Amino acid sequence: MKFAERMAKVSPSATLKLTSKAKEMKAKGFPVISFGAGEPDFDTPQPVKDEAVKCLAAGFTKYTPTSGIPELREAVCRKFKEDQGLDYTPEQVVISCGAKHSLYNLIQVLCGPGDEILIPTPYWVSYPEMAYLAGAKPVFIPTHQSEGFRLKPEALKKAITPHSKVLILNSPSNPTGAILEEKELREIGQIALEHNLICISDEIYEYYLYGGRKHVSIASLSPELKKNTFVVNGTSKSYSMTGLRIGYLAGDAETVKKIGILQDHSTSNPTSISQKMAVAALALPKSYRADVLKKFETRMKRMIELLSAVKGFKPFTPEGAFYVFCDISATGIASEAFCDQLLEKIHVAVIPGKSFGSDKHVRFSFASSEKDIEEGIARIVDWAQCLKRGEDEL
Ligand SMILES: *Cc1c(COP(=O)(O)O)cnc(C)c1O
Repeated sequence: MKFAERMAKVSPSATLKLTSKAKEMKAKGFPVISFGAGEPDFDTPQPVKDEAVKCLAAGFTKYTPTSGIPELREAVCRKFKEDQGLDYTPEQVVISCGAKHSLYNLIQVLCGPGDEILIPTPYWVSYPEMAYLAGAKPVFIPTHQSEGFRLKPEALKKAITPHSKVLILNSPSNPTGAILEEKELREIGQIALEHNLICISDEIYEYYLYGGRKHVSIASLSPELKKNTFVVNGTSKSYSMTGLRIGYLAGDAETVKKIGILQDHSTSNPTSISQKMAVAALALPKSYRADVLKKFETRMKRMIELLSAVKGFKPFTPEGAFYVFCDISATGIASEAFCDQLLEKIHVAVIPGKSFGSDKHVRFSFASSEKDIEEGIARIVDWAQCLKRGEDEL
């Protein structure tokens, strides 16, 4: 088959490839422990599930407005106001089939051939592919573990050209767990305004912040920055609703309208029932998030403690999200080969950093039980010792 030109640069998701291989091995009876998960491991909250049952009984199973039911768009506005003091009207909000869909649509609406999209590296796997699918060019801005994976103003300035159109920010970050603090966001925002850059702020991990840190949205820093920024979020990570596919974005009303038109001719509305479930999720008491956060912080600390003891590993202590990005370059093995070996020899699944733009790292998710964290890393400790003694064929 001869495929359309737009597919030429797009690669399959390495994350999905590795997790499906891990699942296959598990099905064959291997004792696989997976640190691959990109989703919370706990169940969807009961009030959210109850809403689905109510929707079914009431026959809420037909088309809804393409850009989302008014009730959900209003709930999203309230959320932005409560969490960040951001004032949006429902006309500035569009509901999509996941935050990934929100990002995809936004990039389709804003960017095309000749446009450059600035992407700090390591990055979430889909950003470069979304740029390619829009015919735009991703421009990667390096960040370094020694600098906390923070985007440095000098590095940003160096990457800007007359074609730069969009800057993607992802704080807290998947895969590094790094965040951007207010001072840094102000500096970055100043540069964005000077160069007329549109900021896309992917804030899907906003509630997963450790050490008492507070989330800051670049859109909240000034009216000028709010005008230039699209805030993307969703219920997948915050409320363990990944399969229900609800994401949203807020920003310039004219752009939001264009996204609505794109949805009119592609997906139509996100699933009716999921939208009502998202309304229920956004109405959950704050204590729900606090409980989840406490669990994740405990696991994170334990995982860092255990990984720090592995010879040749340099884990980055995350400030947010639920991943540990670990430098494994001292083992002398590139990330994909490393992950293949780990899965085949000791049946532990982790994600190669190469798919996030760093072949020196692998990503451990701590959206897994403490028991799995203990046992999985114990296996790695043994394996790494063999490596050192040269007992392995390496
Ligand atoms: C998971 C994730 C998303 C997308 O989540 P949806 O399930 O599509 O809402 C977007 N950005 C990052 C960084 C993610 O990790």
